[in-house]
Amino acid sequence: LDARIAVVGGGSAGATVARYLKQNAPNLRVTLIEPNETYYTCYAGNWYLGGFRDLETLGHGYDNLRERHGVEVIHDRAEELDLAGKRVLPRNHDPIRYDRLVVAPGIDFDWERIEGIDQDDTEQIPHAWEGGRPFRILREQIKAMDDGGTVIVCPPEDPFRCPPGPYERMALIAHYLKSHKPRAKVLGLDPKDSFSKQSLFKQGWEELYGDMIEWVPGSEGGAPERLSVSDRKVFTDGGAQAHRGDVINFIPPQRAGAIAWKADLVDDSGWCPVDQETFRSQKHDDVYVIGDAAIAGAMPKSAHSANNQGKLVAATIVGELTGEPTPDFPTVNTCYSLVSPEWAFTIAAVFEHRDGEIREVEGSGGLSPEDEDQDFRQIEAIYAPGWYESITKDMFG
Ligand code: FAD
Repeated sequence: LDARIAVVGGGSAGATVARYLKQNAPNLRVTLIEPNETYYTCYAGNWYLGGFRDLETLGHGYDNLRERHGVEVIHDRAEELDLAGKRVLPRNHDPIRYDRLVVAPGIDFDWERIEGIDQDDTEQIPHAWEGGRPFRILREQIKAMDDGGTVIVCPPEDPFRCPPGPYERMALIAHYLKSHKPRAKVLGLDPKDSFSKQSLFKQGWEELYGDMIEWVPGSEGGAPERLSVSDRKVFTDGGAQAHRGDVINFIPPQRAGAIAWKADLVDDSGWCPVDQETFRSQKHDDVYVIGDAAIAGAMPKSAHSANNQGKLVAATIVGELTGEPTPDFPTVNTCYSLVSPEWAFTIAAVFEHRDGEIREVEGSGGLSPEDEDQDFRQIEAIYAPGWYESITKDMFG
């Protein structure tokens, strides 16, 4: 195949699409543009915060994509996408011409939607919603906190990356505190009234941590209005209540990655509209958007979704270039949540394209049952690292 595909962003979605393009059509020229030489997953990052996984084990390099799969990897940031001229303009390299472009930049934080904090404050108030260093900052702050202190976790508004993530985080921080600082507390201040796998989480929180965890929903005054970084305070309930945290993990509101904005791939929602059958951008030709940045119907913003979208788009592009019919295969999401290293549950679903949108296949997937015992939870906790190993191998070879 005499064509070149450029992929912007080498995270969960971008690494997968690059790898599978080469696997499906070894002669295709595939160029992946990603600034970091090591990609740190957010997934399993909460295990690190809980003190039972090393951060180093969450790093993945690009040598396998290069050497085993023949992907050209350029470590640079795409500064601009010249969609009319079909070129990616990296910061420090020559422009890259392409026949098809896949954009997979993940998320950006929308600091404008909250008062009193911005990007410059993330050393004091870490979000730990991008992999690597932000997780280390949060972990070190929790370790340095006195016994009896309060860790505040502020989950964002929908939609955001990893819907169960903040609630798993509250549990696993409590897991660490229970054995190291047993008088400490975790306080969740949430703009929302409900969240993913809520009753399973609440059951696990209560069983394992009792009143160590408190969660305040938006309708009961939980929604953060404003932060004071210097006083370490979160103001909620229209500013009427001030909560002081010894550690504050404010997870900002989110939108599609900055380059998608710059290239006019987003709509008013802040995310990228795509044809949900092919992930082709609805705004520009010969461009596909996958992963967290895309609007993907019922699929949650997860690594598992990003990986499945990468495979689907790799097959779609190869089909288009060879004239073979584009595949119509279902996609899947599975997400493990841990409440402790021995207590986990899952949500799973199979998706299909139906009536113009990605929807769940009726009767597929579901949640772990509520009335199961510790043995059942433990078995799911054993499966979780297996999921991690296999999905990262599938992405990074
Ligand atoms: P990313 O993986 O963020 O990749 C985007 C890449 O694009 C980055 O490497 C970035 O450097 C690069 N990039 C951005 N801009 C540019 C540019 N201009 N030029 C070049 N490159 C650029 N998902 C699960 O399935 N299961 C889980 O258990 C799970 N747990 C999670 C726990 C937490 C705490 C969090 C925060 C997330 C979790 N997720 C989980 C979600 C998962 O991390 C994301 O959904 C997934 O990483 C999305 O993949 P992506 O490729 O869209 O974005």
